[in-house]
Amino acid sequence: MSGDRGLRPSRTARMVSLLPLPLRRRAEALPGAMAPPVRPGQSTPRVAIIGTGFGGLGVAARLRQAGIDTFTVFEKADAVGGTWRDNSYPGAACDVPSHLYSLSFVPNPAWTRKFPTQPEIRRYLDSIPARTGIADRIEFGAEVRSLRYDDDAKTWQVTVLRGDGPDAAETTETFDAVVAATGQLNRPHIPDIEGLDSFDGPVFHSARWDHDVDLTGRHVGVVGIGASAIQFVPAIAESAASLTLFQRSANYVAPKADAPLSPRARRLLRVEALRKAYRFSIWARFEARFMALRDGSTLNRMGQNLFDKGLAKAVGPKLTPEMVVPDYALGCKRILIANDWYPTLMRPDVTVVPGGVQKVEPGAVVVDGVSHPVDTLIFGTGFESTGFLMPMTVTGRHGVDLQESWAEGAEAHLGITVSGFPNLFVLYGPNTNLGHNSIVFMLERQISYALTCIRSLVSDPRPLDVRPGAQAASNRRLERRLATTVWATACHSWYKTESGRITNNWSGTTSDYWRRTWRPRWTDFDRV
Ligand code: NAP
Repeated sequence: MSGDRGLRPSRTARMVSLLPLPLRRRAEALPGAMAPPVRPGQSTPRVAIIGTGFGGLGVAARLRQAGIDTFTVFEKADAVGGTWRDNSYPGAACDVPSHLYSLSFVPNPAWTRKFPTQPEIRRYLDSIPARTGIADRIEFGAEVRSLRYDDDAKTWQVTVLRGDGPDAAETTETFDAVVAATGQLNRPHIPDIEGLDSFDGPVFHSARWDHDVDLTGRHVGVVGIGASAIQFVPAIAESAASLTLFQRSANYVAPKADAPLSPRARRLLRVEALRKAYRFSIWARFEARFMALRDGSTLNRMGQNLFDKGLAKAVGPKLTPEMVVPDYALGCKRILIANDWYPTLMRPDVTVVPGGVQKVEPGAVVVDGVSHPVDTLIFGTGFESTGFLMPMTVTGRHGVDLQESWAEGAEAHLGITVSGFPNLFVLYGPNTNLGHNSIVFMLERQISYALTCIRSLVSDPRPLDVRPGAQAASNRRLERRLATTVWATACHSWYKTESGRITNNWSGTTSDYWRRTWRPRWTDFDRV
């Protein structure tokens, strides 16, 4: 793979370092991408990074590239990869095209398909530490339990749990800044269903797939049919004796324009300029799709008509409207893509049971008083998506508890900084998820923003705390805009809290986010 020599300072950074001092100072005020490497001998902030998904690996690589080596990456598991390590279910794949689904500064010319599969993404993520020279900074088996800001020392006390069982031990270490890259989808949600404990067969969640359970010949019940289930259900349908799908809501499922990349295309995509142009073209095409997520927009209406016509064709003797026609507006929940979903539903050994699960019994799931026999239960019920940074306890200035201040729903300034929590940077934080483009693109904007803030600590070590007014203003704007999107229409989704507040999604295009995070506005911050 190209680039195995480790991540060097960017060309721009090297050019900036050659500028005369006054110009260099100006350039240093620009975003992280422009920041020159820290000069030898300069003292650099100690940074704790939590998590090794795209965000954690990306920020570590960029810190090292910027000449800041004083960081430690804490990873509670024994391998990197975040959600792509945890979600190893059969058929796992991404619905964003491969060439957009990688860090721009760690390119992957080796993608084999238009849309990447989980094993391929995992291989890419596994390669990043060695390629970027950060492998020696990652500590595996180290779970961050709490973060406490010390008002006097102006540092973060990071408590880390290492080891299992009786050997488990906690230590507290001191850092100047923390980057929390734990993501929005890292804690599986298993609903509290009456009688679940009494079920006498294997039970597991899609994000903790039990590969020791051979599904061959088993009667499998699947609770929850969303983005994950529409991938693993077709993948296990052949081996299971029967599949019973307990589906509370139907989905909008569009075709997936997937195929292997031809040898010629792969050869061409090894050329950097072509790869960048291709990546840009995917991003621009996906960016336009945001218009369909505006409630009442022409594109949304056109999309809705198209889906309505297609779904009407899927309805027939086997599939009732209740089984395939969503009862909410297009886009309110994530629009899914798959080519094998409807063919799988048409199989004689696959049954869709609409409605909520009433209870579980030994060997059966009960819906509307009817008992459906199954011997294995798989939950595709998603994640605890609105509990950002949980289960860590995070205590900011003057002993303020983060989860208490987020009791009405998580919020941050541009999804990255939270007032009262100086030098804490959140990646894929509140209101940074998308329904139309690549999260990796968003992560890169956040990484760049955090990097600029962290770099500023080299010359001015006073911690940066976003002003409450700046955070409130950016959230007022966000909420105004979110109110015009389809996510605000009537549906239950993982983008919202129980009370209906949208805490997970960004309110506009990724270019809008790019513009807003292009560089930190220093007047938004206090030095505390
Ligand atoms: P999900 O899309 O949120 O689906 C969860 C499903 O569980 C929904 O059908 C939900 O029903 C159902 N459910 C929840 N609680 C239930 C209960 N008590 N009883 C019955 N059903 C219940 O979760 P997911 O499939 O794990 O996907 C989550 C997100 O992960 C996706 O939206 C996506 O962002 C990401 N993901 C991405 C990819 C990719 O291709 N990039 C693949 C997989 C996942 P209701 O709809 O009625 O609430």
